[in-house]
Amino acid sequence: MNGLMQDWPLLCHKLLDHAAIQHGHREVVSRSVEGPIMRTTYAEIRQKALKIAQKLQREGYKPGDRVATLAWNTARHLESWYGIMGMGGVYHTLNPRLFPDQIAWIMNHAEDKALFVDLTFLPIVEKIADKVPSLKQVIVLTDAAHMPKTSLTNAVAYEEWLADADGDFRWLALDENAAAGMCYTSGTTGDPKGVLYSHRSNVLHAMIAALPDAMGVSSRDVILPVVPMFHANAWGLAQSSPMVGAKLVMPGAKLDGASIYELLNTEKVTFTAAVPTVWLMLLQFLEETGNKLPYLKKVVIGGSACPRAMTKKFQDAYGVEVIHAWGMTEMSPLGTLGTMKPETADLTGEARLDVQQKQGYTPFGVEMKVTDDENRELPWDGKTFGRLKVRGPAVASSYYGGAGKEQFDADGWFDTGDVAHIDENGYMEITDRAKDVIKSGGEWISTIALENLAVGHPDVAEAAAIGIAHPKWDERPLLVVVPKAGKSPTKDELLGFMQGKIAKWWLPDDVVLVKEIPHTATGKIQKTTLRDTFKDYKLPTA
Ligand code: AMP
Repeated sequence: MNGLMQDWPLLCHKLLDHAAIQHGHREVVSRSVEGPIMRTTYAEIRQKALKIAQKLQREGYKPGDRVATLAWNTARHLESWYGIMGMGGVYHTLNPRLFPDQIAWIMNHAEDKALFVDLTFLPIVEKIADKVPSLKQVIVLTDAAHMPKTSLTNAVAYEEWLADADGDFRWLALDENAAAGMCYTSGTTGDPKGVLYSHRSNVLHAMIAALPDAMGVSSRDVILPVVPMFHANAWGLAQSSPMVGAKLVMPGAKLDGASIYELLNTEKVTFTAAVPTVWLMLLQFLEETGNKLPYLKKVVIGGSACPRAMTKKFQDAYGVEVIHAWGMTEMSPLGTLGTMKPETADLTGEARLDVQQKQGYTPFGVEMKVTDDENRELPWDGKTFGRLKVRGPAVASSYYGGAGKEQFDADGWFDTGDVAHIDENGYMEITDRAKDVIKSGGEWISTIALENLAVGHPDVAEAAAIGIAHPKWDERPLLVVVPKAGKSPTKDELLGFMQGKIAKWWLPDDVVLVKEIPHTATGKIQKTTLRDTFKDYKLPTA
């Protein structure tokens, strides 16, 4: 027997409808790519999105067409997403930090038909446009006055393009399982793989993200998503914010400490989210200037492990609660968040930091387990680590075009490629990417544990641990360190600092100081490049 409730499909544009009806005057503030701060509202964004949908349809785009975006976080980018989805199209976020040829490869794989692009990235498009035969039209996210000369024959300024649309359009009545968005994984090994979100998965993910014990956002929040919309859906904030009606502050192209601080302060931001490297810049700026964060209440940190020292600094020096989060493009992306349960809520000091160093527990809608290589489930004891597998309504069921089949099993579990353990309270801790873990004498050493510990040293800005070939132990850890400006800690000082805080045999065999550690297009330490740089390195113990 079926229930007798209404069939109300979970469609992304309903999020914007809701925001426009209940929170129509709520501001969306952007640092525009042209420079000045621009202010709009959810009601205006909805009107703009209707015009975009109307124009796309008029120009012959069909439901299911992929429409790419290559843009910073701004109101115009947000409008584009909703306009594309509202006519049944699929927004496809491109990561401008990739090499132009990789972007062209991804666009061809997705067969993108149109592209919304920021002024900043127009030169990239000029370079690759003739390598993407499917691309019919380039819409430059600016007005006629700022439209530069371009070698592209099919480019038009966004505001000019929209000028003859009146927005008299009805969102398409779509199936909630229709594709809504697309994002390719960064692909540090092999070709990038496409993840195809549905309307249903995006809406459910937005609800999951907003839950009190997940990100916990409301209409009274002012949300600054520093995490780009081109990186894993801006962690759902482009959907959760209109869902709850929160004021949005979009940082545009300027992500340095001073620029982010300016927005946090002038717009009275209460909630923000980004990868650790962004917060490194902000904390450095605060230290140099002596500025404080009077309005900010919560910061979500993920994408790579949040160093303990960073959590401590935010909480102790600035009174900002840190939520450590883990996720993946394939998970829309939220997987776990490190908020407190009754079992952990009363912990203070180092014991609380011990919990916060873990990546947290799954909200409703995400299931997880760790298994050994024979797919046997491992106990939740806080120490036995293995392959982390997940499933849920906002987790990919396959990649676009069928690549990477081996990562999905018959019971619907997706193998994340991460190595982790889970404790008695359900808190998961990532110890490594499966391909980065250091194998010493048949045992595994967690590179993340070494890195977290090393950045706790006052002279260390960033650290990376990699395995170096060793005649006796197979591999041993080398610690690569970027010192803070003006500092040059010695190997003995650093190892002395780490000693006693980890198993003795985990201590790195050597330490090298470098000016810079390479990062991937999504801000993670590029271990493949580092391993390549140090492939002939001779450890003193070898
Ligand atoms: P992406 O799809 O680019 O977001 O990358 C996902 C991967 O980033 C995960 O599989 C993890 O390896 C890594 N990652 C994300 N969040 C964290 C975190 N909080 N701690 C450690 N690794 C993380």
